[in-house]
Amino acid sequence: MIIILFGPPGAGKGTQAKLLSNYFNIPHISTGDILRRHVKEDSVLGKKAKLYMDSGELVPDELVTDMILERIRKPDAKNGFILDGYPRNVSQAQSLNKSVKEIGFDVDLAIYFEASKDVIVKRLSGRRVCKKCERIYHVVNMPPKKDMVCDDCGAELYQRKDDREETIINRLNVYLKQSTPVLDHFSKHSKLKKISADSEANSVFNVLKDTLDRLKNSDLEKINK
Ligand SMILES: [Zn+2]
Repeated sequence: MIIILFGPPGAGKGTQAKLLSNYFNIPHISTGDILRRHVKEDSVLGKKAKLYMDSGELVPDELVTDMILERIRKPDAKNGFILDGYPRNVSQAQSLNKSVKEIGFDVDLAIYFEASKDVIVKRLSGRRVCKKCERIYHVVNMPPKKDMVCDDCGAELYQRKDDREETIINRLNVYLKQSTPVLDHFSKHSKLKKISADSEANSVFNVLKDTLDRLKNSDLEKINK
């Protein structure tokens, strides 16, 4: 089963990806994680990516695509995988489609997590991140045991610049503009399912699970009814 997850920042995509990965026992492949790992391991692709990152530029499509394709060919992805943060544009979606077909697969479903602006602002502005291990907390939904200190490694928590209220709306608008063509692409191929992500993680997951269980047993047209 190949599932692609989309959603604006704060829609809870990362949380749902982890839950799904455990439920279906398939890896969660996140572009951000892969990019960081390549850079950290100083791989050939990582070295190339770092040049762009250091100069504040976006890592080019082909480089990201190469990293993703390398990852989905690993043995643990042979029964499927969950993609998060990829594809970002129609060209990446086409490369992905071509490559999964080459390894005998097909993208099953692209899921879009819809969340309202209010919910997104509340979630993101309460987010705190560990300076050392990057674990994510939330001042209301998932506070650390000790105020502003990481439960795992004891380092200090901070608020990312990106998570300040004034930048959230801007991030959201950029995201919506960027993602529309990709969503249209999947919608055109009848592979898009929108799920409301305004409620708390467990109830969103129940809807998601139900959708995917039905996908396994039927076809998409039925799901979209
Ligand atoms: Zn930590």
